[in-house]
Amino acid sequence: MNEEKILLSPPHLTGKEKQFMEEALDSNWVAPLGPNVDLFEQELAEYVGMKGAAALSSGTAAIHLALRLLNVQPGDIVFCPSLTFIASANPIIYEGAEPVFIDSEAETWNMSPQALENAFVHYSQKGKLPKAVIVVNLYGQSAQLDQINAICEKYNVPIIEDAAESLGTVYKGKKSGSFGRFGVFSFNGNKIITTSGGGMLVSNDLEALKKARFLAAQAKDPAPYYEHSEIGYNYRLSNILAALGRAQLLQIEERVEKRRQIFKRYVDEIGNQPGIVFMPEGKESISNRWLTTLTIDPKVISVSPFEVIKALEKEKIEARHIWKPLHLQPVFKNNTFFPHKQDKVVSEELFEQGLCLPSGSSLTEDQQDRVIKLIKQVLSR
Ligand SMILES: *Cc1c(COP(=O)(O)O)cnc(C)c1O
Repeated sequence: MNEEKILLSPPHLTGKEKQFMEEALDSNWVAPLGPNVDLFEQELAEYVGMKGAAALSSGTAAIHLALRLLNVQPGDIVFCPSLTFIASANPIIYEGAEPVFIDSEAETWNMSPQALENAFVHYSQKGKLPKAVIVVNLYGQSAQLDQINAICEKYNVPIIEDAAESLGTVYKGKKSGSFGRFGVFSFNGNKIITTSGGGMLVSNDLEALKKARFLAAQAKDPAPYYEHSEIGYNYRLSNILAALGRAQLLQIEERVEKRRQIFKRYVDEIGNQPGIVFMPEGKESISNRWLTTLTIDPKVISVSPFEVIKALEKEKIEARHIWKPLHLQPVFKNNTFFPHKQDKVVSEELFEQGLCLPSGSSLTEDQQDRVIKLIKQVLSR
């Protein structure tokens, strides 16, 4: 019985999915658009505390549309954290613009306000401000949004909040995804709720969201025939998948609670080992703890994250490295990067020492015991 595979963050069904999807099927709404799409948009916007939302085929599509709506053009620059999944940055390239990568700070692992300020000073001296700043809330942890927002406001540059990993996270009493001009969510299979694949763009700017829906449905002009005066995309979420999303959203609070419990249990069991540091929780924020992540200090423990991952893999347990910083990616080798401090690159340190553990909301206590026992064994080698 100890043989089953334990995944990092597998989809977790609530039991309501079938009913919601059957209703959609029975009404023959097997199409992009439809009542579930509208309702999913309303329900998610309400949950997050934004005026509206546009349901899309992926989180990547949502970032892409946000950039389009902010009129990002070839030759423009966009600031983006280095320590994130590449989907945060790829849409910048789709628009022919240039990502400038910003380091992390140690308190939240997210965008360093200090490095961001340095980047702004550097580019404003050149007379070239970024068109947008993408902020990511990594592994469910909110970035230092107050400080970041103050800097962006000073330079009058809008924020796109990539909350793909942080649905349900709270920062200073407000929900994650509600801090920028646009917020982005993902419902990919590994996220805290899933539609198998999907995303959402949220905003208080209802006109912009209308434009997003227009662009996401091939930019059809209001004419009696197919007429197009702009290039659009096929980015809408289907009515069936929106039904799945609505069912999943019903249990978001339980999901957050469960992932936080999983995190706490890991900390209780292995947090007292010298050299092990779990991802901290930012001041005045409640993380959804999408993934439990920790660092292993090589000065204290001689076992590397790579070795832990290998050992767990042998026992059919999936653990992963922290995102490899984008400024270290071959595809971005020519892009500019601003470190946290001249002599301290936080994102590289986190990458070298960091590890993500199985954290899915369907993880059982027995399964987690298995993971914990193995990690203890490996670390004591
Ligand atoms: C998952 C993820 C995305 C992309 O979402 P998709 O729905 O997979 O396109 C973007 N940014 C971050 C930080 C993510 O984790």
